[in-house]
Order: sequence, then C-alpha cells, then structure tokens
Amino acid sequence: MRVTLPAADELQRRAAELLAGWRVRDTAVLVQWNERLTTTAGRAFLRGGRIELNPVLLGRAPDQLPMVLTHEAAHIAAFRLFGANIQPHGRHWRSLMRLAGHEPAVTHDIPVDDLRPAAKARRRRRYVYLRVCERCGDRQLQPAPRYGRCVGCEARDSFLVMKAPATAAGEAALSRLTLADVRAAHG
Ligand SMILES: [Zn+2]
Ligand SMILES: [Zn+2]
Repeated sequence: MRVTLPAADELQRRAAELLAGWRVRDTAVLVQWNERLTTTAGRAFLRGGRIELNPVLLGRAPDQLPMVLTHEAAHIAAFRLFGANIQPHGRHWRSLMRLAGHEPAVTHDIPVDDLRPAAKARRRRRYVYLRVCERCGDRQLQPAPRYGRCVGCEARDSFLVMKAPATAAGEAALSRLTLADVRAAHG
C-alpha cells in the first residue's frame, strides 16, 4: 500500500502552529523530508530551527507522523523558551509534549530491521583468503587473513596466503589451487 505523506510546507505550517500553541514568540521553523535518514524518525536542529523527517519510516507508520513532528517541534520550542542548558528529553520538553496531547515517548516503535541493509552491505567482506601452511599443506579458507599457529602441524606463521573476491566463484578458484600453485604465485 502506498501512502501519500503530507508535503513539507504543510508540516511546516503545523509545526509553526504547535510553536504558537506553546506561546513561543518566534514560530519560524523549517521542515524537510530527508530520505537519507535510516532508523531515525526525525531530528531537530535547534539553532537553525529546522526539522528533518524520515519519509521511509513514516511512510510505513503515517499515524505516528503527528507524534514525531510534535516531538521535534517540542525540542525547538524548549530551546527557544528555556535555552540550551536543559535536558533534551527532560521536564521542559515533556511538559510541551503533554500540552500538545502526546505522551512524551523518546523512541518510536516503527519496525526498522529491514532499513539497515545499506549499513550491513558496507560492512560485508570483499575478499576471502586461502591460507596454506608451507610445512604441512594445511588449508584454511578465511574471511580475513589470520596468522598464528597452524592447526595441522602447529608451526607458527609459516603460511602462504592467496586472496580472491568473496563470491562462490572466488572460493572455488581458491579451492582448486594446489600448494605448488600457491608457492609459484609467491615466487
Ligand atoms: Zn528527541
Ligand atoms: Zn602446518
């Protein structure tokens, strides 16, 4: 199901109304959708008076949009009313949330596990390593080259290492290498 989220300028009007309702004199606030946010529903930049909201997250839980917008607007209101030396989610912020009719919840409960693969992909290994013991020929396929004691003969650091892309084809190529091949590759 596709949901149509409100345009940023509509949300900006709502945020300004919230600030006015809290009796904040300066109600100027900028609201923007930011597609690069991953698991954060929204964030507020206090000095710039700017709010960023996550369209992917709020697209799957549009019912939470008013709460998230109020959460971030209350950060800006608390900053303008009470200054910078207050707890971000302390009593000032909480009382503004209650005044606007929201429970002062600090985190959202929108499922986010599937929004993490971008970060996971960056961490994924690019290479796989074949470690061959020169003494006994023991072979280990490893996600990272590890040295130390050979599991076959217990010799220390007598390894030759070959690397291939961390794919099925890369692993197969490494598996086919004989000790002679690996020695030849190392000159
Ligand atoms: Zn917050
Ligand atoms: Zn060995």
